[in-house]
Amino acid sequence: MVALTFDDGPSIYTEEILNTLKKYNSNATFFVLGNKIDNYNNIIIKMYENGNEIGNHSYNHRWLTKLSTEEQKEQINKTQEIIKKYTGYEPIYMRPTYGSINKKLRKNINLEVVLWNVDTKDWKYKNVNTIVNNALTNVKDGSIILMHDTHERTSEAVKILVPKLIEKGYQLVTISELKEVKKIRNNLNEKQ
Ligand code: ZN
Repeated sequence: MVALTFDDGPSIYTEEILNTLKKYNSNATFFVLGNKIDNYNNIIIKMYENGNEIGNHSYNHRWLTKLSTEEQKEQINKTQEIIKKYTGYEPIYMRPTYGSINKKLRKNINLEVVLWNVDTKDWKYKNVNTIVNNALTNVKDGSIILMHDTHERTSEAVKILVPKLIEKGYQLVTISELKEVKKIRNNLNEKQ
């Protein structure tokens, strides 16, 4: 199993990614920015209704570990509220901006932190095949793949990557599903 994750959206490229995921009966997790949701509220609803998971990526991409306790809570809580307003769902996972996390931030948020272990560097590489290959050469069972649904090239890469991952035998699941399976496997190992 593999979890595709998309940060920094929603954007004009998100819907195309949702369509590709649906076409292949796959799901992903989207770590969204609170301040973008009003403009894409139909997308956030579609995202949720298609069975994808929504996570919190702050309100407007401030560097969270550099903020005061009050500011950190505001960044997270405002985003929780706006996601809930449109979907009725409150995220349980957050991805810290810039992957930056410390004790204080962990303490100030009531959400589980989710980082990644495969970086497609889609923000940096303009070539679709490079993005796809960055994922394919590093992926393994249980991988969490980082992408950004704010680039057209990413939505193009997803069209190639999703069927290739399926071809390799991977199932594309949400973070919650991935964690659930890991928990079951750990329990089985303990019993053996
Ligand atoms: Zn980000």
